[in-house]
Parts: sequence; C-alpha cells; structure tokens
Amino acid sequence: MKKYKLAIIGYGGMGSWHAENITKRISRIEVCGAYDIKPERRAAAEKDGFKAFASAEALFETKPDIVLVATPNNFHKSYSIAAMKRGCAVVCEKPVCLNSRELEEIIAVSEKTGKLFTVHHNRRWDIDYHIVKNVLRDNLIGKPYFLDSRLFGSKGLPGDWRSAKAAGGGMLYDWAIHMIDQVLCLIDDEVTSVYCQALRVNFKGVDDCDRILLTFKNGLCVQIVVDTWCYIGENRWHISGDDGTLVIHDWLDINGKIIKANIKEIDWERGIIFTPTGRTKTMAPRPKENLAELPLPTPQGADAPHWEEFYENVAAVLDGTAEQLITHEQLRRSMKVLDACFKSAARNAVIKL
Ligand code: NAD
Repeated sequence: MKKYKLAIIGYGGMGSWHAENITKRISRIEVCGAYDIKPERRAAAEKDGFKAFASAEALFETKPDIVLVATPNNFHKSYSIAAMKRGCAVVCEKPVCLNSRELEEIIAVSEKTGKLFTVHHNRRWDIDYHIVKNVLRDNLIGKPYFLDSRLFGSKGLPGDWRSAKAAGGGMLYDWAIHMIDQVLCLIDDEVTSVYCQALRVNFKGVDDCDRILLTFKNGLCVQIVVDTWCYIGENRWHISGDDGTLVIHDWLDINGKIIKANIKEIDWERGIIFTPTGRTKTMAPRPKENLAELPLPTPQGADAPHWEEFYENVAAVLDGTAEQLITHEQLRRSMKVLDACFKSAARNAVIKL
C-alpha cells in the first residue's frame, strides 16, 4: 500500500505532537519535514530527525502528498489554500479558520482543485465523548432536555498567540470549538438559536471564559462552558433526560454514573424536607431504594475510540476507498455556530439561526 508523505507547517507544540505520533502510530504516513517561521523551531524539527525547510515554498517544492497546517489560527486559511493550489491534500488544525467567509474560500479551493481538505477534530476520539454518544444512541436516559458540556482550568491563557486577537486567540477558538463540534456530532438536529457570553476576565484582548447556550429545533438546550480561572470545577458532562440523568465527572480520569428511577409512582408524603424557613415536596430527594444506577457504557476493545482512525481515514481518502470523516458540511455547521457566538457576545443578544 502506498505510504503518503506529510510535511508540517508550524512546528510548535501541536506540529511536533503530530510528527511524533504519526511516526509512532500511523504506518501509512511518513513525516518528510517541517517548516516553521522561527529558526529555533526548524532546529527542533531537525533535532527530532525531520528535514527542516527554509520556507513554505521550499516545502511545497518537495511535493508532499499531505500538508499539515499547525500554525496559529490566523494563518490556517492562507497556508491551506496555498498547499492545495500546489497539489497537496491538507490536514488543518482546529479551528479550521477564523470565520465562515474564510471557510468558504478554503472549501472553494478544495472543490476546484479536487484536493482533500479536512480538520483535526481529535476530540471526536475522546472516551468521555464516546460514552455520551453511546448513552444517547442507546436511549439510556430517555429524551435529553438539558445537556451541559463543561471544562475548567485555573491557569488562564498561555501568554503566547492565544492571548492575541489578531492571531485568532481566545477560548472560543481554542476550546469551545472542540465542544461545539462534539455537540453537533451528538445531536442530529438544527441549532435554532445561540447566546454567548465571552468574558475577558484577566486578558484584555481575548475571551478567557465563555458560556454558550444553544437551542435545538427539537427543544434540547445545550450549555457549553469553558472557564480558565476556576479552582473548583464542575462535572465535564451533565445530561438530564426525561428518563434518567448522566454525569461524567472528569474527561481524563473517566468516572461517572447514570441514575434512573426504578419505580414511577411517587410517594409525595415521604421525605418531605422541613427547613427553618419552610418545607418542600418537589425538591425532596427520592428514597435511595427507588433509584437504579447503571454503569457507564464505556466502549471497550475494538469499540474503543482510537485516534489513529483520523489519519487512517486521510490515507484511505487519498487511496480513493473512503469518504472523509470530518466533512466540509460539518465544518460549515460548527463555524456558523462559532460566528453566532462572536456576534451574540458582541451584542449581548440571542442570535437566531
Ligand atoms: P504553538 O505556538 O506551540 O506552535 C505554533 C508554531 O507555528 C510555532 O512554532 C510558530 O513559530 C509557528 N508559526 C507562527 N507563525 C507562523 C507562520 N506564519 N508560518 C509558519 N510557522 C509559523 O501553538 P500550538 O499549540 O502548536 O497551536 C498550533 C495550532 O494547533 C493552532 O491552530 C491550535 O489551535 C491547534 N491546536 C490543536 C490542538 C488539538 O488538540 N487539536 C491542541 C493544541 C493546539
């Protein structure tokens, strides 16, 4: 089987991660070199055993099959278009680019040249996301009505390009886009409205804490939270369905549970809560024996998500034996939501889609 040559533009944190992981884990693709605007990063590529190109032009001249674009976000569009025009397939890091207008320019070149253009939405291979997918697919909690997807850090933004607006910095581009992509893959329905609060808590130029509310046509309300100054985080996922609740506490150290009622009749007189300031039936917990806990449907063995599938798919698309997994339509859909987030945050208004 043909082994494809991949060259990297932007040999920083993520560019070097791809280089190492493709080399170790992807038999169909060989990293043939890298270009970075900084001489020290070109030296780093050489130290890691890859050829360092003096310019993007020099990289294109070696005719790699695939170009990986892993620069700051504001350069994604120009490098992706240049690479496709030079005959290369493109894998671009997320966010695909800065807005839908840029995305349409990229897609037009992909369609005109017939070159593959796809985006490394690697969070589609996270185990927590697959558990949620299985819960919804197997109807384990009934029809979901609230879905919360949240991430909490406490170190703010790295003081690099991620803190600069012109470079495409800020957490909407950095993390929220992963979470929007995941939610749109989970919910096969139209988003009808978007409300977003993009706060600049400790960074003047870009959003460092975001809260997004999406409403779907079927009534589902989704909340996405990215908080970079939070010392006490909340559950990574919390989904309320009309027949159960799912919680996944942590996305790295997967643990959580599904709780359902094992009887439908409610004894309202039992367990009334009396407080010094009043009483409540509605907020009194159900007796423990009326509840059932189900294990998380964690995919195992061959069903477990494996990141290699991303590049295996890229190779198969180039062979002509598969359709691309991360499609232009999916990119359009998530970018439309991201555009609406920026618009909503700027106007403090709900944006109807
Ligand atoms: P980084 O700062 O570590 O690396 C970026 C590199 O690009 C630097 O070495 C820099 O010198 C180089 N560069 C800057 N301008 C350039 C230009 N005009 N031409 C060539 N090289 C240039 O940043 P990073 O964390 O590696 O992020 C790079 C991209 O990867 C971003 O788009 C980011 O959103 C994405 N990313 C994705 C994930 C993921 O999980 N999918 C994780 C981290 C970063």
